[in-house]
Amino acid sequence: MMSLPFKKGVQKSKSLLAILEGSHDPKDEQIVDSFRQLLFFEGQLLGKNSDYHTLLRFLRMRDYDLTIAKNMYLNYLKWREEFHVDEISEELNFEEFNEVKRCYPHGFHGVDRYGRPVYIERIGRVNQNRLLEVTTSERFVKYHVSEQEKTMNWRYPACSLAAKKHIASTVSILDVKDVGMSNFSKPARHLFLEILKIDSHYYPETLHRLFIINAGSGFKVLWKAIRAFLDQRTLAKIQVLGSNYTKTLLEVIDPSNLPTFLGGDCTCSDYGGCLFSDKGPWNDPSITIILQAMIEAEKENGDEEKNGFAPTDAFGGITPDIVHIKDVYDATPSRDDTFGQPFLQKILTLQSVVDDTKAKIQALEAALKETKSVIEGLGQPMEELKKQIIVSKRRS
Ligand SMILES: [Zn+2]
Repeated sequence: MMSLPFKKGVQKSKSLLAILEGSHDPKDEQIVDSFRQLLFFEGQLLGKNSDYHTLLRFLRMRDYDLTIAKNMYLNYLKWREEFHVDEISEELNFEEFNEVKRCYPHGFHGVDRYGRPVYIERIGRVNQNRLLEVTTSERFVKYHVSEQEKTMNWRYPACSLAAKKHIASTVSILDVKDVGMSNFSKPARHLFLEILKIDSHYYPETLHRLFIINAGSGFKVLWKAIRAFLDQRTLAKIQVLGSNYTKTLLEVIDPSNLPTFLGGDCTCSDYGGCLFSDKGPWNDPSITIILQAMIEAEKENGDEEKNGFAPTDAFGGITPDIVHIKDVYDATPSRDDTFGQPFLQKILTLQSVVDDTKAKIQALEAALKETKSVIEGLGQPMEELKKQIIVSKRRS
C-alpha cells in the first residue's frame, strides 16, 4: 500500500547495485547463460539461489564442466530444501553461542587488505568434550550453516559496500597449535568432516586463501588425512606455516584487523576478545543501514512482482511517491461509514506505516550524521539517499 521513499531512492542508485554485483567477465557470462539453459531444459525452475555468482561458483568448482557442475548444483538445491536452510537462518535460536565460543574459539574478525572478511579458528584449543556437552552435533551443524548463510547474504555484501568492489570470498586463518590425531574423538572427527563436506559441496569457491599456522609434527599426520578430502583447487589456496607466520599474515592483513595473539594490534577488549566481537563492515551502522534498505527494496520489488504489479519506475523518472493516491482515497470516509470501524482501521494502519517510515528515516538520518566520512566516500549514491529523505520530510 505504501512505498518507503528512501527504498525507491536506493533502487535508483545503480552504482550501489553495481558494486554489489561486480563486473562480469564476458566469457563467464556466456558459460553461465549456457548453464542456465541446461538447467532450464532439465526442468529446473531458476529461483533465488540461481543468481550469476552462485552459478559461476558451481561452474568454477568443477572447471566449467557443465554436466558435473549441474549435478553439484542440483544436489545443492536438494540439500537446501531437505535441510531447510532458509528456515534455519530465520529460526535457529542458538542460545549456547557464548558457551560454544568458549570451548571452540572461532569467529570473523575484520577484513584483509583487499576488503575480504577474515575468519579465525583456534582449533587446537577446542575442548571437544565440553563442546558436545553445551551443544549437539546436529545443532552445531545448523549453527554453522546459519553462519555460512549470514556470510553469503550479509557479510559479503557489507564488505563489498565498504570496499566499493564486489567481494565474495573469505581469508581464513586456522591455528592448529597443539593439534594432533589425539585431539579428535570419533564424534568430533565426524562433526568436523560433516562441516568440511557442507563447506566444500554447498558453499564452493568462497575460500580465497587459508593460512594454517603453528603446524607441528602432530598436525602433519592429521593433514595427510584431511588432504584426501580436499580437491586440487582448494589445496592450491592453502598455505601451511609453522610458528613464524606473523610476517606472512601481516602482508595480507593490516595489524588493526589482526588480533594480538596472531601478531596484530587488536584486542577487542570491549567484547571479551577478538573472537567474540564479530567486528567488520557487516556490523558498521553506516554500512548496514544502506544494506538493509537495499535488501528491503529488493524484497518489496519481489513482492510487487509476485502480486502482478511490477514497478515500472524502478530505474526511471524521479517519483518519490510516499502514499499512492489510491490509498488516500481509500482512507477517505464514505457517507455510510463516517468514523465507522473500517475507516478508523484504515487510518490506524496508515498511521502505523507512517510512524514506521518516520522511525526508519530518523534512524537513517542519525546514521548519516554519525558517519560523514563514510558518506563522502560513498559519494553520489548517498547524495541521492539524502535527497529522498529531504523530499519525504517535506511531505510528512
Ligand atoms: Zn579484535
